[in-house]
Amino acid sequence: MDCLFCKISAGQIPATIVHQDDDLVAFKDINGQAPLHLLIIPRRHIATLNDLSPADDALVGSMFRTAAALAAQHGHADRGYRTVFNCNRDAGQTVFHIHLHLLAGRALTWPPG
Ligand code: 5GP
Ligand code: ZN
Repeated sequence: MDCLFCKISAGQIPATIVHQDDDLVAFKDINGQAPLHLLIIPRRHIATLNDLSPADDALVGSMFRTAAALAAQHGHADRGYRTVFNCNRDAGQTVFHIHLHLLAGRALTWPPG
């Protein structure tokens, strides 16, 4: 399948990987928007949040728990961090393989743009 994040998961395209296990890969965003900007992806191709099924509940839970663990590992647990899933055009999704953004290391504005 011609999917950028499937290729990163398979090691066919380089990325700065900070965590990987049987189900997930976490790597640095190529165009970081904060001092820490990681993407946490499932190894299995899922195009958007709209494509999740109840069988994916544990997978999505582990994506969030991995984000929290990585935030803590980088020293951001107390000051805080943001996790974001963009879904489809209005949210600005550009890669159609779900990914959880983890942003930390600066005060993030709200509401988002
Ligand atoms: P989206 O806009 O779909 O929510 O987020 C896609 C993210 O993937 C963007 O933040 C973008 O910078 C990042 N990205 C796009 N291409 C690559 C790539 O080849 N390598 C890495 N590490 N990140 C990428
Ligand atoms: Zn994919």
